[in-house]
Amino acid sequence: MPKPRGRHFFANPGPTNIPDSVLRAMDRPSVDFNDPDFVAVYEAAYAGLKRVLRTGQHLFMYNASGHGAWEASLTNLLSPGDTILVLESGYFSDEWANMARSHGLEVQVVAADWRRGVDIADVRRHLAADAAHAIKAVCAVHNETSTGLMLPLPAIRAALDEAGHPALFLVDTISSLGSLEFRMDEWGIDCVVGGSQKGLMLPTGMSFTGVSAKAFAAHASARLHRFYFDWTMMAERSTKSFIGTIPVHIFYGLRESIRLLEEEGLDNVVARHSRLAEATRRAARAWAANDGPRLFCLSPDRCSESVTTVLMPEGCDGDSLRRTVRERFNVSLGGGLSRLSNRVIRIGHLGDLNEPMLLGALAAVEMGLRIEGVPHGRGGVEAAMAYLAA
Ligand code: PLP
Repeated sequence: MPKPRGRHFFANPGPTNIPDSVLRAMDRPSVDFNDPDFVAVYEAAYAGLKRVLRTGQHLFMYNASGHGAWEASLTNLLSPGDTILVLESGYFSDEWANMARSHGLEVQVVAADWRRGVDIADVRRHLAADAAHAIKAVCAVHNETSTGLMLPLPAIRAALDEAGHPALFLVDTISSLGSLEFRMDEWGIDCVVGGSQKGLMLPTGMSFTGVSAKAFAAHASARLHRFYFDWTMMAERSTKSFIGTIPVHIFYGLRESIRLLEEEGLDNVVARHSRLAEATRRAARAWAANDGPRLFCLSPDRCSESVTTVLMPEGCDGDSLRRTVRERFNVSLGGGLSRLSNRVIRIGHLGDLNEPMLLGALAAVEMGLRIEGVPHGRGGVEAAMAYLAA
């Protein structure tokens, strides 16, 4: 089949669309990362990223995708045999837990239905039962990209405080930062894990951890093995935040992406994502008629504002729908991960995105449903347009 013409519509939940001005900012020859001109770019990007994280504390950055920052968070804060508590939300909370086990950590899990996420009362009970304070860290994925589910971080912080539990609070903000409201310091988060390729609208390859003063103090006695990710070594370097060759182009891009986020205003960025997410949910609710595809998330106040996971009807193949949509209409959607493989499609609506871009992706899905013969209610795009025009 010939390659479809026209612009490729990228509706994956990460990586995301890279704005033209970010591409232009990175389109330049190499420069020595010690060059004073570049040092100024680095420092501006570094300070800007702290503003986006809403933190005045530490920030360390890595040449690695989000997995690297996960590994940095665990190895810098914990020692072999330490216990951590992971709040189940989907594939990515499972993988963070698996990584912890591979490092010799004892992992307890607050189990949850993937369509609803953890009950905060269960989290509170779990922490209150740990009278000896064996749990050293609580790990939560703010926005679970596999299930399209958000967790209420202030409520989890409150559960820790109500239980009087001193565990560190670790949060994965990989698919929420720059898209959903996020406040590291105000919400009492000790370590934040983030990546370049989602709300920050950059290529994949740079990840980072925001680290509270409490976490940095705990780091001093943490004995898990680390080298490239070591915060103490980083703090001793001239940048105070990076080891090894700095990916200069990413930093030119980061400075520009932060400029774009701040030009729009972080609150407006959050409101835009919320609007696009609601339009997507309205489309999915229309499709759900006639036993059609439906929202995977069953907790209305937790449905993600950056990615919508849509459950296919029994016997219908999500990957086949994605293939049709890609081959016929040049639209790329996310697929199901692990136990959701083939069972869902994921519509990403984060990053550099506006109403017509979203409507194009929704229309392609709706046409794909017809072509594939998937039973569904008509009028999903109409429902999204009615909402966006209101
Ligand atoms: N955590 C979440 C919530 C993610 O969405 C992803 C990737 O999509 C990861 C972790 C892993 O990050 P990476 O693929 O950049 O290593």
